Amino acid sequence: MSGNTVRQQAISKVSAFKTSSPPLNYKESASGSLFGANVFGLSAMKTHLPKDVYKSLKKTIEGAVPLDPGTADIVASALKDWALSKGATHYAHVFYPLTGSTAEKHDSFYSPDGDGGAIAEFSGKKLVQGEPDASSFPSGGIRVTSEARGYTAWDVTSPAYLQETLNGVTLCIPTAFLSWTGEALDTKTPVLRATAALNVQATRILKLFGHESPAAVTSYAGCEQEYFLIDKNFYYARPDLLNAGRTLFGAKPPKGQEFEDHYFGVIPARVQAFMFELERELLILGIPVATRHNEVAPGQFEIAPVFEGANVAADHQQLVMTTLKSVAEKHDLVCLLHEKPFAGVNGSGKHLNYSFGNATQGNLLDPGATPHDNAQFLVFCGAVIRAVHKYGGLLRAAIASASNDHRLGANEAPPAIISIFLGEQLGDVWEQIKAGGAKSSKAGGLLKIGVDSLPHLPRDAGDRNRTSPFAFTGNRFEFRAVGSSQSPGIALAVLNTIMADSCDFIATKLEAAIGAGKSLNAAIQGVLQEIYTEHGKVVFNGNGYSEEWHQEAEKRGLLNLKTSVDALPQYDTKEAIAVFEKYKVLSARELHARYEIFLEQYVKTINVEKNLVLQVAKTLIIPATIRFQTELANNAIALKGAGVTGDTSLLTKVSGLLSDLTGAVAALDKAAAHHGASSVFEEAKYFRDAILPAQLKVREVADTLEGLVPVDTWPLPTYQEMLFIK
Ligand code: ADP
Ligand code: MG
Repeated sequence: MSGNTVRQQAISKVSAFKTSSPPLNYKESASGSLFGANVFGLSAMKTHLPKDVYKSLKKTIEGAVPLDPGTADIVASALKDWALSKGATHYAHVFYPLTGSTAEKHDSFYSPDGDGGAIAEFSGKKLVQGEPDASSFPSGGIRVTSEARGYTAWDVTSPAYLQETLNGVTLCIPTAFLSWTGEALDTKTPVLRATAALNVQATRILKLFGHESPAAVTSYAGCEQEYFLIDKNFYYARPDLLNAGRTLFGAKPPKGQEFEDHYFGVIPARVQAFMFELERELLILGIPVATRHNEVAPGQFEIAPVFEGANVAADHQQLVMTTLKSVAEKHDLVCLLHEKPFAGVNGSGKHLNYSFGNATQGNLLDPGATPHDNAQFLVFCGAVIRAVHKYGGLLRAAIASASNDHRLGANEAPPAIISIFLGEQLGDVWEQIKAGGAKSSKAGGLLKIGVDSLPHLPRDAGDRNRTSPFAFTGNRFEFRAVGSSQSPGIALAVLNTIMADSCDFIATKLEAAIGAGKSLNAAIQGVLQEIYTEHGKVVFNGNGYSEEWHQEAEKRGLLNLKTSVDALPQYDTKEAIAVFEKYKVLSARELHARYEIFLEQYVKTINVEKNLVLQVAKTLIIPATIRFQTELANNAIALKGAGVTGDTSLLTKVSGLLSDLTGAVAALDKAAAHHGASSVFEEAKYFRDAILPAQLKVREVADTLEGLVPVDTWPLPTYQEMLFIK
C-alpha cells in the first residue's frame, strides 16, 4: 500500500504482528494451583495468623462483629512477612475515588535502621490508616483546599493482594477514602454502609419468618464486563481514542455486525492468547473468572467473574478493569472500556447481576422449591419491585455518565426508563396477588401462607428479555444499564440503600399487622398486595426498545431521564436525601458533593472531546482534505491544458464539504468560547445542548469526506481497519 500516513504505518505494523505460539504463560495457566496465590485471604490468614486473631478477623469479615483494633499490629506484621517472602518491596493503600478509577499510594516497607542499613517495617497504624494528599481527587466542595488531607482506612472485608509487575511486587491493601472530617470521597464507603443497613432491615424480615439467628445478610454482585480490543498501533494513530477513549470521527464500516457472525464466534488466536494471560492474572488475584466469549460487535468481547459479596465484587471489578488494560498492552492490544467507542456499532455495558442473602438462608431471591420459600422469596421480590419503582430516578442517576449516555436508549442497550422485567410466569403470580386471588389454604404449618397455592416459581426464566434495564433472571436481578467503564460500587450502594428502605417498610408493616393480631400469612398477603398495587407499574415485560413503551411509560408516570444532565439531579431530591440519611449511607452534604462531582465530570469529559474534535479536524482532516483538493485542482488544470473536457464535479463536491467543515469547526470554536454559566448544572446543560451538537456537526461532514478522500491520504485509521484487523 502506498502513502506514508501514521495510519498506514500502523496498518503495516499490525499486519506484521505474529502471535507468540504457544500463548504467553500457557503452561502456568494450565495449573490448578493459581487461584488466590497472591491473595492474603482467609486461607492465608489461617496459616499466618495466631488462631484467636484469625477467628476474630473471620467474624468481622463475615459481618458478625466490628474490627478489633487490637489485632492490627499482629495482622500488619503477618502481612508484611507474607508479602516480603513473595518479593514485595512496597505496600499501597488502594482506594476508589469518585472519578471511577483506582488510585494507589505506594510506600516502601524499608526505612533506615540508623546504622546505614535498612529494616522492613509495617505497623498496625500503617495498615489501618493512610494519608494520601487528597487535593487532586474530586470532593465536590467537601474539602476546601486548606484541608487537603484525606484518609484511607483499611477495609478488612476485602482481602489484601500482591500486584506483580515487571518492575516489582507491591502489597495492595483495599481501603476506604475519606475526608479529614470523615466524609466519604469514594465509591467503596457507601457500599459498606448500605450493606450494613440492608443487613439490619432484611434480618427483621427473616426473624418474622421464624429464623431465630440468621447470619448477616449481604448482597452479591456478578459483573459481566464487555470490552473492545484493538491493535495498539491503531490506537496511537487516533488522538480521539487515546485521549477520550472513543472515536469522535469515523464513517460506518462497509461490513458491520449485520451478519451476526461475531457473537459466540471463534475467538481469534491473538485474542485467545490475551484471554489466557488475563485469566491467569485474575485467578492469581483471587478473582474467579468464569465465562469468556465474543460479543455482538466485531472486536468486542466479554468476561464475567463468578459473583461474590458486593464489596469484594466491586473491588475485584476495578481490578478486572485495570488488569484488562495492562494485559492487553503486553499483547500490543488496547482494551477499550468506553461505553461507546464506535458510533453505529454496539456499545459496551457491565451487566450487574444482583442478589442478596446470607450463610444460613442462602440466596433470598431464589424462589426455592417449597411454598414457604416462595412466600419468603415473594416478600424480598416485592421489596425489589417497590425499591426500583420508588427510587427509579436514583438508579438512573447511579448509571449516569457522559459516556453511558451514548449507549442508553440506543436500541442495543436498555432505555433510560427504569423498569423491571419479571417474565410471564412470575408476572402472573404478582397479578394474582394484586387481585387478592391467592387463596389461603390452611394446611397446618406455621409458615404455610396463602400464596402456597401458586405454582412452583421458575428458577430460570426461559424468556430472557434483553431490552429491560432490570430483569429477573431466575434467582437474581440483572441491572443491564450499568456502563462498561463504571464502578459497580455506585449502583450497588444505591441498590442496597433502597433495598434497606423497602425491607424496613415491609418489616414495619408485618410487625404492626402481627402485633394487631393478624396471622403472618394474612399480613404477608396484605403487604404484597399493597406493594404490587402501588408499584406494579414498574413491571414491563414487553419490548423496551419500542416507541410505544416510551408513551406507555409516560402514562404510567415512570421517569424517562434521557441524559446524565436530566438524571444527576435525582441525587439532590428530598426523597434521595431522606433515604440516604435515614440509613446513614450518605449525608446530605456527601450526596450533594456527588451530584456536583458527577456533573463536573460530565462537563470535563465533553470539554476534552470538544478540544479533540477541534484538534483532529484542524490538524489532520482539513489539511488532508486540502491536499486532496489541490490534487483535484491540479488535475483540472492539467486536463484543461491538454484540451480534455474533464469531470470536475468531485472537486466541486470536496470543496463544498471542505467549506462546510471549516464552517462547522468555526461554529464549535464559537460555542466553546462561551463563558460563565451560573452553576455546574447550567454548564452541563450548555455542554449537552450546545457543544455536543456542534461537535457532531463537525463529525458528520468529516465522515462524509472519509468516503471521498483517497485511502493513502486519509489520516485516521478507519472503523474497518480498527475493528477487523487483528
Ligand atoms: P448471561 O447469560 O446473562 O450472559 P453470564 O454467565 O455471562 O450470564 O453472567 C452471569 C453473571 O451473574 C455471572 O457473573 C454470575 O456469577 C452472576 N450470578 C449468578 N448467580 C448470581 C446471584 N445469585 N447473584 C449475583 N450474581 C449472580
Ligand atoms: Mg454474559
